[in-house]
Amino acid sequence: MSDCLFCKFVSGEISPQTVYEDDDVLAFRDINPQAPCHVLIIPKKHISTLNDLTEQDAELVGKLYLAAAKVAKQEGIDEAGYRTVMNCNEQAGQTVFHIHLHLLGGRCMNWPPG
Ligand code: 5GP
Ligand code: ZN
Repeated sequence: MSDCLFCKFVSGEISPQTVYEDDDVLAFRDINPQAPCHVLIIPKKHISTLNDLTEQDAELVGKLYLAAAKVAKQEGIDEAGYRTVMNCNEQAGQTVFHIHLHLLGGRCMNWPPG
């Protein structure tokens, strides 16, 4: 997707602050962090929203979570705890339409979320 910001991160056209990368997944720091640790984990494959996932993406979604756990450990927030969230569409506040798992930690999280 040539007009997708996160696809530009994957292609290298724009370089985010990468904290983890493998064949399927890229993780980088959020530009507007909402917690001391705020990392976005994305699939290298363009998928617009959670609604667009197919059965073929099941393993890929698992890899997003495995990457999140790796980054949490790397960031030293795994034991204290952290939150992962994926926003879908307008009412959830999705603003970038290439799915991404938010990894938030380094402070206490409220529940229910806002
Ligand atoms: P959403 O609101 O779609 O769930 O999350 C999009 C996230 O992408 C936001 O937390 C926002 O701060 C982050 N973001 C938007 N533009 C950029 C950018 O250019 N670089 C980085 N690293 N994060 C971005
Ligand atoms: Zn994309």
